This record gives sequence, structure tokens and C-alpha cells, in this order.
Amino acid sequence: MGLWRQLRWRIIAAQMLVVIVGVLTLIVTAETLAARSVDPALLPVFQSAVIQALVVAALAATIAGLTTSILLVREILRPLQQLAASSRRIAGGNYDERVTAPLTDELRDVAQSFNQMAETLAQVERQRITLIGNVAHELRTPLAGLEGYLEGLLDGVLPGDPETIYAMQHEVRRLRKLVDDLQHLSRVEAGQVAIQPQRFDVVALVHLIVAQLRPQLIEQYLQVVIEAPEEEALAYADPDRTAQVLVNLIGNAIQYTPEDGSITIRVRCESTHVQVVVEDTGIGIPAEALPYLFERFYRVDPSRSRASGGSGIGLTIARHLARAMGGEITAASPGIGKGSVFTLILPRGEIAS
Ligand code: ADP
Repeated sequence: MGLWRQLRWRIIAAQMLVVIVGVLTLIVTAETLAARSVDPALLPVFQSAVIQALVVAALAATIAGLTTSILLVREILRPLQQLAASSRRIAGGNYDERVTAPLTDELRDVAQSFNQMAETLAQVERQRITLIGNVAHELRTPLAGLEGYLEGLLDGVLPGDPETIYAMQHEVRRLRKLVDDLQHLSRVEAGQVAIQPQRFDVVALVHLIVAQLRPQLIEQYLQVVIEAPEEEALAYADPDRTAQVLVNLIGNAIQYTPEDGSITIRVRCESTHVQVVVEDTGIGIPAEALPYLFERFYRVDPSRSRASGGSGIGLTIARHLARAMGGEITAASPGIGKGSVFTLILPRGEIAS
């Protein structure tokens, strides 16, 4: 029964079945008609003529059937075999593999889908390699710092005083933050972070977060203005995750705004969503950097933000969370030195009448 499972034999068998049914129908019909309408004396002559004609027709039909079967099988099987071979090569790690488009529409669709899938796999692979490179690069900086301190201590170049130990602790904290951020990012990207949406007042949440961040704001002599509607601005989202996103946006505004600057947080209710705009008078973002801000590990000035403990993952996580809640985050800036504007949008908890 192994042969029956092969497409080529099924097609050949189907064609042969058509030939056999055709021949049998012809025999039965010719016999019946002859019995009714041919002179019995001429019947044997007629029958022998019919049989001869049938043999010739059956032979011609068989040859035609076999030829078309073989051509058809080739047309279908060759691209399928090519697809199978290409998928084996992709499974073996050759992500640049592509198949050429076959002639028939249906198989061309399959080939196109296959090539799209291969392209996506290649892209995922490229991202994976970049990610590993980035993680290694990020780990190297705090590790090199720690190594330097340890060597200094061992060589007696550095004194084992609280200052050195504090500096080492700082590097360890950077490592811990990076590892925590990475773990969080992987959970967010895998969709494993539970989102529990509920109705809550965004204005109250903004006040709470600003109160929490007050010490940093005072330390940097930053002024904060909250512009919000009189009434509640109800969003339908996860309040804890929203707080996380806002802490990141306001935290960044604090980090990238020099002393005596100001941060304005504007809450606005639109018909279907609530908008929170975090605007600062800080260092701004160059236009060419804006499209990459939400990519993993992207920093406009790597040395500056790394020195302050930034891993370039905060905005990536924030955007994932916003999207998981049915919202979005966008960034804008009039240019370097002219401040930045980050806008968080969340679904509204109450549709305006
Ligand atoms: P980081 O931990 O480095 O701050 P983020 O993902 O939060 O990482 O931000 C990515 C980069 O976007 C930052 O390194 C910084 O260059 C830029 N950025 C974010 N917020 C601001 C802002 N308010 N003003 C200027 N640049 C910003």
C-alpha cells in the first residue's frame, strides 16, 4: 500500500480508471445498441469492428493518460520536492534559503508564503544574534569596572576603603538592574506579563507618581507642572503597568533634563482614549534617532545614559506594556537642546457621550 500513498501513482491510477470506465461504457453501449438495431447476420462483423476500434482507442487513451499524468505529476511534484528540500535546509540553519516560483498559481502562492516565512525566520535569527551581541556588550561594561576595582585592590593601588566598596556596589547594582530589565523584557516580549485592566483615574495616578519622584525632582531643581481636567480622567487599563510606564517616561524626563528645567505632564480625555503627555525642557532628541528610540538597547548617547545606569530597554518595555493594554507610546522632539515630548495613549474607561 506504500505506492498508493504516493501522489504520482494516485494520479496515474485516476487516469487509468477514466480509460477503463470509458472503454467499458463503450462496450456495453455498443453491445446494447447493436443487439437492438443491427441485422443479426451482420452482428459478428460489427462486433469485431467495434472491438478493433476499442483496442485502438484504449491504447491511444492509455498513452495520452500516462503522458498527461507524468507531465502533471512532474509539475506538481517538482516544486513540492524543492519545498521539502528547502525546508530541510532552513531547519538545518540555512535561513537564506528561498524557492523559485513555480508555474501554477496555487503552487506560486505556496512558494510565496514559504519565502515569506523564510524571510521572517532570517529576520528573527538576525535579531537573536544582535541581541546576544548587545547583551554581551552591556554586561562587559559593569564587569570591566568590577574587574578594574578588584585588580586595583589586589595590587594595592586602590585602598579597601568604603569609597571603593561603594563604587563596586554601584557596578553590581548596574549589573543587577540590567539583568532584571532583561528578564522583564523577555517576559513582556513573550506576552507573559499579566495585564489586569480596570477603570482608574489617570490624574490621581500621575499625582501619586510625581509625589514618589519628588526627591529626584528637588535634587535636580526641576519644576513640575501637571495640567489635568477638573473631573476624573478614567482609563481602562492596568494601573500598575500604567504606573510602570509613567515612572519610565517621567524618570527619563528627569534624567535627560538639566537643572532648573521643567517637566509638564498633561492629561487629556479624548473620545475613545486618555492621553498623557510628558514634556520636558531637556537635551532633546535628534530627528534621526526618533525612529529607533523604542528598540532594545537603543540610546542616543550610549556613554551618557550608560553612565547613569540606563540600559536602553526602558522604552522598549514601556511600549510593549502600553500596546498590551491597547494603548501606544510615541516620541517627538523639536531637536537637540529643545526638549522632548512623550505621549502615552490608553483606552478610555468611559466613552464620552
Ligand atoms: P535608558 O535606560 O537608556 O534611559 P530608555 O529606553 O528609557 O533607556 O531610553 C532610550 C534612550 O532614549 C535614552 O538612552 C535616551 O537617549 C533617549 N531618551 C529617552 N527619554 C528621553 C528624554 N526625555 N529626553 C531625551 N532623550 C531621551
